[in-house]
Amino acid sequence: MTGLYIHIPFCAKKCGYCDFYSINYNSDTVKNYVEFLIEKIKNINTVFDTVYFGGGTPSIIGAENLSRILSCVKYKDNAEITVEVNPKGYKKGFFDEIYNAGFNRISIGMQSADDDELKLLTRIHSAQDVKNTVSDAKVAGFENLSLDLMIGIENQTLESLQKSLDFCLNLDIKHLSCYMLKIEENTPFYEQKLNLPDEDKTAEMYLYMCDYLNQNGFEHYEISNFAKNGYESKHNLIYWQLGDYLGLGPSAHSFLNGKRYYYPNDINYFLGGNKYIYLSDGGDVYDYIMLGLRLKQGINTAKIKENVSKMFFEKAKKYADLGYGNLDNGSFSLNEKGFLIQNTILTDLLEEII
Ligand code: SF4
Repeated sequence: MTGLYIHIPFCAKKCGYCDFYSINYNSDTVKNYVEFLIEKIKNINTVFDTVYFGGGTPSIIGAENLSRILSCVKYKDNAEITVEVNPKGYKKGFFDEIYNAGFNRISIGMQSADDDELKLLTRIHSAQDVKNTVSDAKVAGFENLSLDLMIGIENQTLESLQKSLDFCLNLDIKHLSCYMLKIEENTPFYEQKLNLPDEDKTAEMYLYMCDYLNQNGFEHYEISNFAKNGYESKHNLIYWQLGDYLGLGPSAHSFLNGKRYYYPNDINYFLGGNKYIYLSDGGDVYDYIMLGLRLKQGINTAKIKENVSKMFFEKAKKYADLGYGNLDNGSFSLNEKGFLIQNTILTDLLEEII
């Protein structure tokens, strides 16, 4: 499987918590960027299994630009083709046009269904906008819809989370990506005193959410992702399963033939026609364990046997015995309690790589 990621680095307004690379929308820069991408993609002969337009806000460049870019990509007949959409700011007919162009999966940046929480997150949309977006996408023919949901938002409670979860379930979507709010340096939130739920409260919300979604037909297939049967994100699975992917655009990363590359966070570097930069070798046992333990299915212990000390399995057994995961013939995986302390477990286990 090979994926293509296309970064669209434009937003209407920077959200207070965001550390993704994006710049303010400017029609001239968008025009240059789209033409540049088209020329670049025309020269790529790989036939992709998945295509993912992320951002930034891909929907801000409009259906015509997205469709023109996609028309230059070579992809398989059954390829998964996703675009991230902001619930505000797309034009009438947007979904019809991209549906006809071949897009078949929509990922909507919802974050919360509580308007007060959305305001605190400095998002520009409301819960009603999300409802309208899902409805518009469905009317156009899309059925593979994903929503982003955030936990650990300022003033968030179990009750408000419950409201957001029910909102998602009522919209009958197929996939949910649920991230914990992380306050990163170089974001406006970093400088502010926010009334964030503490670690215990956030952990309680995470476990509650996992349980509630499981009860309602969603499989928790990755630490932050839930899907109805058959609707796991094929593109993101390529990342976690160490498949090859090419990333285009500033800040985009690639993993090709065991090597990692990246474009710096600088649109001018990309538009200057510069090549991606070598970052490191990858795809070794270290990566396999780190990414594999994000997945419900975990890691195949036969694959790592030669490369880890005996202590690795003793430690894995200890975590399984403590109720953080499962170690049986041939596999080791974390459960939801284990996902919550995944960093601690990984740090401990990765010491045992030889
Ligand atoms: S819309 Fe998304 S990418 Fe743009 S600033 Fe907000 S969180 Fe970041």
